[in-house]
Amino acid sequence: MKLSEILEKKKHTFSFEYFPPKTEKGIVKQEKVIESLDELNPDFVSVTFGAGGSSKEGSYELAKKLQEKTDSEVLAYLTCYGLSQKEIHNVLSSYQDLGIENILAIRGDIPEDMDSSQIPGDSFSYAYELVNLIKNNYDMCVGVAGYPEGHVEAPSKEKDIEYLKYKVDQGADYVIAQFFYDNDDFFDFLERCHKAGINVPILAGVMPVYSLRMLYMLTEDCGAAIPEKLKKGLSEIPEDDTEALVEFGIEYAAEQCEELLQEGVRGLHIYTMNKSESALGLVRNLRGKGLL
Ligand code: FAD
Repeated sequence: MKLSEILEKKKHTFSFEYFPPKTEKGIVKQEKVIESLDELNPDFVSVTFGAGGSSKEGSYELAKKLQEKTDSEVLAYLTCYGLSQKEIHNVLSSYQDLGIENILAIRGDIPEDMDSSQIPGDSFSYAYELVNLIKNNYDMCVGVAGYPEGHVEAPSKEKDIEYLKYKVDQGADYVIAQFFYDNDDFFDFLERCHKAGINVPILAGVMPVYSLRMLYMLTEDCGAAIPEKLKKGLSEIPEDDTEALVEFGIEYAAEQCEELLQEGVRGLHIYTMNKSESALGLVRNLRGKGLL
């Protein structure tokens, strides 16, 4: 089923993101994660796609496994920068053959180990071109990425919203937001989208804190701020108490999600980092409060 149909039927959705593991051990570990999170009945599960097509085979294998072994709809991501249009068509056809009807069309970051001579001449430069290609050639529901705090390369938040609007104008059916730790950034983003005439559902990205190293690395990469409240909570956790940190991460995310749901968010897309504990804890917490 297309996500647009699910979004039409449901007040809000919840979903999990997975990435293709790089090792045999990672594959076995991920199978257990998928099995335990599947019991929560997510509305959909998603599979990332490496920049420049670096995880093409792994993404396909994971999408196939999710399609065969879970009851959830599968959302396959596709990055376009560094891929020829023929390669893009090949990936889309292979997903279509699996029965996948949902694609998140993204540009992808420019891979550090790729020099310009390796970029095919007809590579797209922006995600809107990929949205356009999919909408003109495939019967698929297409989502795009949005950035509550602005994309790191965007000249301004205003310009970033203009470009997001352009992606939606090419036919994007919904937006999935980058994660954020201050809900006000998301509410402000929703308001700016609304003013710009972006009327498709906007799903919130939720990233529980998994470890300090990961938190600092990921927030630096995507430019997400770490608000004072989060810093203070983290400073009160004894050093090396990883269990307490994960527990705190679940509580912080649950508090964020509770407010988002109360304010009518259309969906919570949980970045699992291929781990089950935080996603399970978060969904159970929200269900315990009757919110999901
Ligand atoms: P675009 O929408 O193309 O925007 C890229 C930049 O160009 C922005 O700064 C934008 O403001 C600007 N821009 C857009 N259009 C124009 C235009 N017409 N003229 C001038 N400037 C323009 N990366 C991966 O590699 N794999 C993944 O699986 C992946 N999944 C993601 C999932 C989500 C939900 C999100 C939010 C991000 C994900 N990313 C992933 C990261 C993403 O690839 C990067 O953030 C990338 O740098 C931008 O991708 P985009 O699709 O937003 O690009």
